[in-house]
Amino acid sequence: MIVNCRGLRTSRQGSGILPIVALLMLSMATGCSQSNRNQGKTSEQSPQAQEAASTPRLQPGKTKVVTTFLPIYLFTKAVAGNVADVEILVRPGTEVHEYQATPENVKAIATANVLVKNGLGLEVFLENTVKNAQNSKLTEIDASKGIKPLNEISPVVKTTQEEKDHEHTQGNPHVWLDPVLAKQQVTNIRNGLIAADPANKATYQVNAAAYIKELESLNSEFHQTLQKTPSCTFITFHDAFPYLAKRYNLKQVAVVQIPEDQLSPTDVQNAVNAVKKYKVKALFSEPGVDNKLLVSLSKDLKLTLRPLDSLETGETDPQHYFQAMKANLQTLQTACK
Ligand SMILES: [Zn+2]
Repeated sequence: MIVNCRGLRTSRQGSGILPIVALLMLSMATGCSQSNRNQGKTSEQSPQAQEAASTPRLQPGKTKVVTTFLPIYLFTKAVAGNVADVEILVRPGTEVHEYQATPENVKAIATANVLVKNGLGLEVFLENTVKNAQNSKLTEIDASKGIKPLNEISPVVKTTQEEKDHEHTQGNPHVWLDPVLAKQQVTNIRNGLIAADPANKATYQVNAAAYIKELESLNSEFHQTLQKTPSCTFITFHDAFPYLAKRYNLKQVAVVQIPEDQLSPTDVQNAVNAVKKYKVKALFSEPGVDNKLLVSLSKDLKLTLRPLDSLETGETDPQHYFQAMKANLQTLQTACK
């Protein structure tokens, strides 16, 4: 079924009985259906950028770093600059939550010096992929090392079907959407790269410092802007924003599940009740998602549907993080007014 880790995929089971609102439903690491992986979502990335990300020109002697998915690629690329080759395993436009590795991924890991992952149970595919790559010299960097994950589950507007097996054991993995935690990820990546490639220590330090400075100013901008709309309450379709919400005193109260075919009147009523109960101000979808049910639900809820970017897909320039996050800030500012 359907909550979505990533935009609005529909269910493997294709059941017609569908719950509508489940608060902070445990969808993450294991909660996404494998079917329809890219449904409703288009990559906004240029072919050139994709090529640059996936097939870097290897230079002899350079440290080869493979990263798992977009935010980790952006942070690693920012720190590595031109002194290491950085690749991405999960190409933008591909779902990370239930990703299945390709033979190319195994090959990439087999020949890499360093592997950088988000951690917190997000990259389920890695375990077997790394094993299959049989690279005894591989250094792994867990970008979330030292970050305490959020596990709390808000009270749930009960759904008709609960999928217990969708609980994520290591907490919510979407830490990169909080600029302060992103700073810690960049620091972890910097330290890992220095340990693996001490010859380029100075470059890693300078590059990381510059990126961290930008993250700090992004954090100030978020604080200054969002303190004008305290406790703004919102609903999403992807449980991606609890860290962002916690940092800036917003409230992600619900994650809505969208069925494949149609919403029953009871489903709609449940959602309407939740909006009233939590005085919900904002309803967020994701960029590139086009779903008639969402549009119709937003009308029933009398809420404007706006895109909030989880950054799981997008451009591969390290500056993309700041562009997308600033766009998110603008969306939040407008929606929370
Ligand atoms: Zn996600």
